[in-house]
Amino acid sequence: MAISRVAGALTLPANFMLIGAMNPCPCGYFGDPVKECTCSMRVISRYQKRISGPLLDRIHIHIEVLRVEYEKLSDDRFGERSAAIRARVEAARQRQRQRFAGSERLMCNGDMGPAEIREVCVLEDAGKGLLRAAMQQLHLTARAYHRILKLARTIADLAGSPSIETAHLAEAIQYRASDSGEARFAYRSANRADPRRRRGLGSPPPGCAPGPRCVLKKPRLIREVGQMV
Ligand SMILES: [Zn+2]
Repeated sequence: MAISRVAGALTLPANFMLIGAMNPCPCGYFGDPVKECTCSMRVISRYQKRISGPLLDRIHIHIEVLRVEYEKLSDDRFGERSAAIRARVEAARQRQRQRFAGSERLMCNGDMGPAEIREVCVLEDAGKGLLRAAMQQLHLTARAYHRILKLARTIADLAGSPSIETAHLAEAIQYRASDSGEARFAYRSANRADPRRRRGLGSPPPGCAPGPRCVLKKPRLIREVGQMV
């Protein structure tokens, strides 16, 4: 971490993982498929701006967590066991250690700078086209571009794939889809305009994938991504 001020520059060691959670709005129901949010757009906007764009841009993965349906809570079946997930993560880390075996500075994909990303995160033509569309439609920054490539490489490592497939890239892009805050309002407006939604019934507005976030920030892109996954 480098801190530059008038009096000079100071470099301090910093390597940490930050995991945080927040509500989408003060009442907590913005985007919920069942219960309608009671906050005004201005209140939602002010609430979400409490985390600045530059700070959000530095967080690699953004995920909206949906309400858990009763059927899932009461399901007797278990999900994937932690031990199996751990084995998959360890195998991915091992691949990364081998990848950076000749380097003293790099340990894992997250350590890569732009030069290494260009060398390691090579995309097929379809992937290049998808990333170009995502950059334009989600108005992503250069930082987000590099984050997506690194994340796509890690998703490919977890899948045991030597190359970054389009599905890996599409998944990585989805984790940045919340970058575009204004589209949330588009969804909310559509949500209000549909009387079935006001009663908490019916389906999401046209062009919107089922589910609250309707990650619907940018419906067309998300549909394209969905078809590729
Ligand atoms: Zn609300």
